[in-house]
Amino acid sequence: RGAGIAGLALAVALNAFDDEQKFAVDLYEAASELSETGAGINVWPRIWQCLKEIGLEETLIPLLDHYPDLEPRIVFEMRKADQENGFKITDAMKEGGILSIHRADFQRSFIEHLPLLGSNVKMSSICNLHLSHRLINYDFTATGHISLSFVDKPITTCDILVGADGIKSTVRRLFLTRLPNPEKYEMFLDPVWSGSMAYRELVDKNELKKIDPGHRALDHPGLMHCVVYPVSGGKFMNVVAMAHDKSKKGAAWEGLWNQEVTQEEFLEKFKGWEDEFQALIRVRSCISVHIKNIRPYVLRQCIPQPTRWALHDLNHLDVFANRRVFLLGDSVGSFHVY
Ligand SMILES: Cc1cc2nc3c(=O)[nH]c(=O)nc-3n(C[C@H](O)[C@H](O)[C@H](O)COP(=O)(O)OP(=O)(O)OC[C@H]3O[C@@H](n4cnc5c(N)ncnc54)[C@H](O)[C@@H]3O)c2cc1C
Repeated sequence: RGAGIAGLALAVALNAFDDEQKFAVDLYEAASELSETGAGINVWPRIWQCLKEIGLEETLIPLLDHYPDLEPRIVFEMRKADQENGFKITDAMKEGGILSIHRADFQRSFIEHLPLLGSNVKMSSICNLHLSHRLINYDFTATGHISLSFVDKPITTCDILVGADGIKSTVRRLFLTRLPNPEKYEMFLDPVWSGSMAYRELVDKNELKKIDPGHRALDHPGLMHCVVYPVSGGKFMNVVAMAHDKSKKGAAWEGLWNQEVTQEEFLEKFKGWEDEFQALIRVRSCISVHIKNIRPYVLRQCIPQPTRWALHDLNHLDVFANRRVFLLGDSVGSFHVY
């Protein structure tokens, strides 16, 4: 349940491996259309192997920033940039490097490979995508099925329920409160603020070239505490600048998790950092991505100004399957990379 990256990947993977055509997948998504937040996803070589196994290689290769071989590459150039005169610390190298891809491209690739009726995908496990289906409850029936209740939609049943409904998961809450010892899991019901704020922005490479033609981010992938990497075949750069406050880890966060902020707030937060970093966040960009031919599965993105994300974590869960209910992706543990 949930058509984020985890739910979509599971549906595509089941179809890829279901030689005996045993599965029929129903993907229930609360939103009325598929959209995504954030601009970049980094894929390590091991994950690339998994993506190949489930048949995404051909679709993804043109969308990557470099060809997925095992050549040693710089993953991050690490700099101390939070002072007027920044300096390089080291280059982190890895065989195969790290593959960067725009989230919208990544999600669209999974959608293209969903075995939906009427699509051209080779079908083993037929998949139905049900938009505007917000799950609010599940129960085990006397016949051994699982009944699913949604907001303003009829009840339906399934044999196996996989909760891939993200960090605020409804399935996780129901699942944990129905375990034999629910009091042990009270601290896992809600996400907690990690104490970190991510300011992020998409920077148009050509705009940056105009104001600072020698900027190292044009040719090198990263800065310390601020991660910069190319997306959309190098046309844009994803900039994620992190402000951490360890004393706030675990504190309650009041307010929106993601919101637009002014460029002034972004600049103020990183005041005193080296000029090269300041140049990077002064570039403004506005991008609109509207992907043809996949209606109603429209991916939208428009970033007229920077956004600020209060990054949340989940306490580490020691159970993610019970009877025929499973938790997957961010519903079982958050995977923000910092
Ligand atoms: C700043 C940042 C950078 C990151 N960078 C990387 C990276 O480089 N590489 C990487 O691998 N990961 C990265 N991550 C982590 C990655 O983004 C997440 O792990 C991933 O998006 C989680 O996917 P998901 O499908 O589990 O959850 P989600 O993407 O949250 O999807 C859950 C879906 O379920 C739906 N839903 C919710 N509730 C219900 C309900 N009750 N009924 C039906 N549907 C429901 C939602 O609408 C949503 O579509 C990053 C995260 C952050 C914050």
